[in-house]
Amino acid sequence: MINTAVSTLQVIMSVNSVNIIGGGIIGLAAGWQLARRGISVRIFERGSMGRGASFAAAGMLTADAELGFEEKKLYRVSRESLGRWPAFAHLLEEDSGVSVGYQDQGTLVVANDRDHEEALRRMFDFQLGEGVDVSWLSGEEARDLEPFLAPGITGAVLASDDHAVDNRAVLEALVTAFQRAGGELFENSLVTDVGPDEHRPRIVMDDGSDFDADVVVIAAGAWSNQIKGLENGKKPPVRPVKGQIIELQKVNPFDLKYVVRGPNAYLVPHLDGRIMVGATSEEMGYDTRVTAGGIYKILEGGWEIVPGIYDLSLTEIFVGLRPGSRDNHPIMGFSDVPGVYFATGHFRHGILHSALSAEEIALEICESVESEWFSDFRPQRFA
Ligand SMILES: Cc1cc2nc3c(=O)[nH]c(=O)nc-3n(C[C@H](O)[C@H](O)[C@H](O)COP(=O)(O)OP(=O)(O)OC[C@H]3O[C@@H](n4cnc5c(N)ncnc54)[C@H](O)[C@@H]3O)c2cc1C
Repeated sequence: MINTAVSTLQVIMSVNSVNIIGGGIIGLAAGWQLARRGISVRIFERGSMGRGASFAAAGMLTADAELGFEEKKLYRVSRESLGRWPAFAHLLEEDSGVSVGYQDQGTLVVANDRDHEEALRRMFDFQLGEGVDVSWLSGEEARDLEPFLAPGITGAVLASDDHAVDNRAVLEALVTAFQRAGGELFENSLVTDVGPDEHRPRIVMDDGSDFDADVVVIAAGAWSNQIKGLENGKKPPVRPVKGQIIELQKVNPFDLKYVVRGPNAYLVPHLDGRIMVGATSEEMGYDTRVTAGGIYKILEGGWEIVPGIYDLSLTEIFVGLRPGSRDNHPIMGFSDVPGVYFATGHFRHGILHSALSAEEIALEICESVESEWFSDFRPQRFA
């Protein structure tokens, strides 16, 4: 086997085996796509599969509604991934036999006073200028679409191409589809070290055992820079960004249809009756405590745009750590460390980006081509 570095891509001749560190949506989705191509894939997860940030997420696939002033590069891939999601979900359901609760009803971004309405109007004008398919609604028009909006909503933007998915069902489906494709899962398996090597990179477990393969993929989410064996400066620069989120249960006649995003919270209704209301965004290191202030803010922010949640049962509270890179954009591709590929830093959009990321990771690793979708997100930009 020959390993030569060509620009940002390590060309590894005929990849047959891949070890993936991390069983979140990124590791599982990439593993599934690789295994479908006949690669021998092992995923190592220190806890249970799919219980990290990917489990806590709300399930929004909101490329259009979330396009912000400084996020054009991110938007390009968000939009592409959103476009790939319906086929990705369909294939995943076929391969796993698990329904992933896909919904395509769109997102309403709402304002509930004049200041927020002005800010929303500026964002709307910017999004229109970027060619995004969004429409402006008066408060009354918005309530005609979604009667559960608060009477005080003064204006709204409808992003009708945005979708949503049941991210927990996706994780369950990925576990099944990955195994059906021949992949091997190792739970309760903490990887402590990576042993870079241009021919056979290794991973070392906390019990001292090790496994080699043609390529190692680091998809360990917010913990991606905790793995030893990579020199300082060569680790993916990822930090945890804490998110608290609550789960409510719909009861008749409350039947919210749209994903609703307000100034201080969002609400995401799922087909099984759950409504996720979130989320905080806190720079608190690896702290995963539920706090009174965090939950208070989310509930107040949700209640002021959809007051009907007041009487719903609060069934769960989750805390997830988003993997945020130094510029908050993903870190994708072969690193400068021989045989080691980074797939991390998906921050607020890992569920949305997983469709595109998984397919392009498999393409880069199996076919030694450079994905143009990752060109703005290479690990080398931090050198
Ligand atoms: C509250 C909240 C709401 C969100 N809502 C959305 C949303 O609506 N839409 C969206 O697109 N995104 C959303 N996100 C962001 C999204 O959840 C993340 O971007 C995505 O889950 C990241 O996936 P991941 O696989 O990289 O990380 P994770 O899901 O965290 O998976 C990483 C896995 O690696 C494992 N691991 C770590 N270190 C090791 C090791 N050394 N050895 C073995 N295993 C290891 C961990 O245990 C973990 O299971 C949200 C996030 C939060 C917190």
